[in-house]
Amino acid sequence: MLSFRGGVHPHDHKEITKDKKITELSPPDTLYIPMQMHIGAPCVPKVEVGERVLMGQIIGDSDAYVSVPVHASVSGTVKEIKKILLPNGSMSDAVVIENDFKDEPFDEHGKNKDYTKFSRQEIIKMVREAGVVGMGGAGFPTHVKLSPPEGKVIDTVIVNGAECEPYLTSDYRVMLENPEEVIYGLKVLLYAFGIKNGYIGIEDNKKEAIKKMQEKTKNEEGIRVVALKTKYPQGSEKQLIWSITKREVPRGGLPADVGVICVNIDTCCAIAKKFLYNRPLIRRIVTVSGSGIKEPQNFSVRIGTPFSYVIEAAGGMAGDVKKVIMGGPMMGIAQYDLNVPVVKGTSAILLFTEKELKQPNTDVCFRCGRCSYVCPINLMPYYIADAYRIGDIERCEKLGALDCIECGCCSFTCPGNAKPLSRVREAKRTILENRRQKA
Ligand code: SF4
Ligand code: SF4
Repeated sequence: MLSFRGGVHPHDHKEITKDKKITELSPPDTLYIPMQMHIGAPCVPKVEVGERVLMGQIIGDSDAYVSVPVHASVSGTVKEIKKILLPNGSMSDAVVIENDFKDEPFDEHGKNKDYTKFSRQEIIKMVREAGVVGMGGAGFPTHVKLSPPEGKVIDTVIVNGAECEPYLTSDYRVMLENPEEVIYGLKVLLYAFGIKNGYIGIEDNKKEAIKKMQEKTKNEEGIRVVALKTKYPQGSEKQLIWSITKREVPRGGLPADVGVICVNIDTCCAIAKKFLYNRPLIRRIVTVSGSGIKEPQNFSVRIGTPFSYVIEAAGGMAGDVKKVIMGGPMMGIAQYDLNVPVVKGTSAILLFTEKELKQPNTDVCFRCGRCSYVCPINLMPYYIADAYRIGDIERCEKLGALDCIECGCCSFTCPGNAKPLSRVREAKRTILENRRQKA
């Protein structure tokens, strides 16, 4: 079974939603579409208050290369343009649209675009036009990923179907319900790079998805479906690349340094939708799960729908909810305001009661070394945490704090609940801040 060094085995809790088919969630009266749902420059609104917009119309864009346009996810009227809170805790301008419930499409929706008629540069341009970003949570613009630096030769494309975070089943459902779109998206990418070496990597706790994708790809030249050992963080880019190709992305390097491009399942579908139906990215699949929700679901949600609306559509809260997280429990972001909108990176909304959160509040390091044993990057989190505690930032840097992928394995495994990740993360921020100040 393909795997990597380190990692942990949290209970996956996927049984809660794995059999829940993707349901199209009807959009709300008002949608809040942020101008920044990606890494890079924020978009500037391209519409005015009172203007009528159509579904799929560009409502925000930027001239910066590292940025993607933002589209209206419904048709309606622009009610306001204002700053709103995002699920990652930052503030962003947002176009507020009053839905007219007509879903009147912009441009030529439904028109099939044969990708083999386009050059690589045209394909990359179309991916940008569709507003496609990494939908595993990072939000990195996909067109930038598809444009590796001069001299880097890409020979492999990996579709990340690991979905290693507990509770999440949105990618799993997509593989079962829309395998053709995943394969089509991968074929577009292979064609763009002129190569025939594509992998779809799936953890072996998703046997039905492996079977389905193997069936659907059996006549596809150069596409292989590979089973990965169920272990967190199998879906982390560097770990996935190592598991499948045994190539090691160098410290501070990119997958392109070892000839690989990795894309998420939903990202692959977003690329396919652009070429199959000329549709931009205006929806995403969201798992709603945890002990704090009445009817766990997998929804297809319009971008800009408030979390509170999604939670109500899933029957509302159950019991005494103590924590709401966007994304998985290992790397997700805790929320303090449920009016935040679903963004391109919202893979899940998880609601937890006391049952899931109970932990001894000891904050003690026993020097057991478990955090180091499980760290997939070979770091020594307790040493970094110690150095940070006494303010020795130079030593934190020497110990490789910047290489931490913030997977949370160290904190998960720590018997003393010493939260080593929190200190490693703080050390990373301090190192970067010091560098900025020096510059
Ligand atoms: S931080 Fe936790 S896991 Fe790491 S050595 Fe200390 S007690 Fe062990
Ligand atoms: S130090 Fe960073 S990379 Fe290593 S286990 Fe902790 S969070 Fe993961």
